[in-house]
Amino acid sequence: MQASRYLIATQKETPADAEIISHQMMLRAGMIRKLAAGLYTWLPLGLRVLRKVERIVREEMDKSGAQEVLMPAVQPSELWQESGRWVQYGGELLRMQDRHGRDFCFGPTHEEVITDLVRNELKSYKELPANFYQIQTKFRDERRPRFGVMRAREFIMKDAYSFHLNKESLNDTYQVMHRTYCAIFDRLGMDYRPVEADSGAIGGSASHEFHVLASSGEDAIVFSTDSDYAANIEKAVALPPQGPRPAPTVDMKETNTPGQRTISDIANFLSIEASTTVKTLLVKAEEDENGNSGLVALVLRGDHNLNEIKAENLPGIAEPLTMATDEEIEQAVGCKAGSIGPVNLPVPVIVDRSAAHLADFVCGANKDDFHLTGVNWERDLPLPRVEDLRDVVEGDASPDGKGTLEIRRGIEVGHIFKLGNKYSSAMNATVLDENGKANILEMGCYGIGVSRIVAASIEQNHDDKGIIWPEAIAPFEVAIVTLNGHKSPAVQEAGERLYTQLRQAGFDVLLDDRKERPGVKFADIELIGIPHRLVVSDRGLEAQTLEYKGRRDADKQDIALDEALPFLI
Ligand code: ATP
Ligand code: MG
Ligand code: MG
Ligand code: MG
Repeated sequence: MQASRYLIATQKETPADAEIISHQMMLRAGMIRKLAAGLYTWLPLGLRVLRKVERIVREEMDKSGAQEVLMPAVQPSELWQESGRWVQYGGELLRMQDRHGRDFCFGPTHEEVITDLVRNELKSYKELPANFYQIQTKFRDERRPRFGVMRAREFIMKDAYSFHLNKESLNDTYQVMHRTYCAIFDRLGMDYRPVEADSGAIGGSASHEFHVLASSGEDAIVFSTDSDYAANIEKAVALPPQGPRPAPTVDMKETNTPGQRTISDIANFLSIEASTTVKTLLVKAEEDENGNSGLVALVLRGDHNLNEIKAENLPGIAEPLTMATDEEIEQAVGCKAGSIGPVNLPVPVIVDRSAAHLADFVCGANKDDFHLTGVNWERDLPLPRVEDLRDVVEGDASPDGKGTLEIRRGIEVGHIFKLGNKYSSAMNATVLDENGKANILEMGCYGIGVSRIVAASIEQNHDDKGIIWPEAIAPFEVAIVTLNGHKSPAVQEAGERLYTQLRQAGFDVLLDDRKERPGVKFADIELIGIPHRLVVSDRGLEAQTLEYKGRRDADKQDIALDEALPFLI
């Protein structure tokens, strides 16, 4: 590419509203421009990086045996009604109507669409396992879009969905995807960790996240000093340090399935049916061996028909239970809604029916060092800050008994889930087994934040002059800077010759032939982060040399004019 005919839209000033380095540098280097909150245009330079990330993701997914498809971004509400998520998903789901008044959404994820496809296309166990992926635009109406493309509303995701006759086959593909993700993040040159994760609102049993370590990360990750144990702190806080204890139970009244339920059941239950059948909810806590009982807080939001919540065996609670605002919840629980609160608070149940978004559920137990497992899900609120969490602190023993825990910041760039039959049973996706019997499919799903990776890479690779791209995703691998090329035909010619030679050898080359002062060109090339820089000048041509500087090098060096290619290889 010749810079004189290419949009080099660099900026000197650091944009005021860009809080983190990657956002600042993507704007300053002319990679992206903001259209509206969470919506970005990729300029030519930024798009080159995005496409290289995509290519690596695609190559490794293809290698794993997954098949590429491309599904629509706009999805009909009927499928989301079937899965139950039309009601459940909350404010992140952008809903719209067509001219006939039919409901649609802009897909934040594609479990429903792929399950619908597979139930129509796959008939027999012989066609399994199958793994379909796409690299496609998602929309999530994030409550706080920020940090540029890191937490955008419209963004590019690679999402894959696998289908199986049984759990063993799902486990196999899950392992293949785990390895594939490692191969992808290795090739991308990232310093990353796979960690155990909560499966959250998407559902399912096991899940791992892949985190890029960076101080700007919105997640907190705990690691053992002496073993491979690593988990998202959301998951780590749910681990009772002294082994499992009996969880309090919750009784449901006026439901189709009465009986004792664990707190996790109520979470599942409410997420599916709160909007439809449940009228009265009875929360009943059982005492443990020390006579302690109780929930810290239970928060329900979204459309539901609950008109009564009753508490039993929860000391300190006067009925009827109160409605509360977010602020009151925060005050009562002592930390942000969505994180686990401290112990011994006499606030068992809080219901907020006014907020018309997601069903959130927050609880804990009033006993030292014990918190309920599997009950905390939240998709819409800011993640707990490390400072807010009292459950795991640095230096705590690792749950596997090996070493102590360290806490670091992470950016979630990938997430893999075993979904089980959550979607396939809700949507009746079956295949015939060897005996001709219909079997509900087992499912896995596997996401990568393709556009987020671009920002995450910058968080790990920069200095005060700009971005330092890993070669694999640099917009250009080599910059050839011609000094005064517009005045010196010899320089211009030598620059062009070198440009052609390197391109023929397969390099991505930017020929900086702009009529700019050398200082301006050098500053741009450094800001843009091109790994190798060659300078062609009259003085160099006289001595038959080029000047070379690697982006991470402190010093420049002269190399023979005809040695550029072997030097770079
Ligand atoms: P987060 O916790 O950051 O909100 P998530 O857990 O909601 O992410 P998933 O549903 O697991 O996201 O989606 C798969 C991947 O898509 C994530 O691992 C992340 O890399 C990427 N991603 C999710 N939300 C965004 C966003 N708003 N902007 C850019 N990338 C995103
Ligand atoms: Mg999210
Ligand atoms: Mg997450
Ligand atoms: Mg996730």
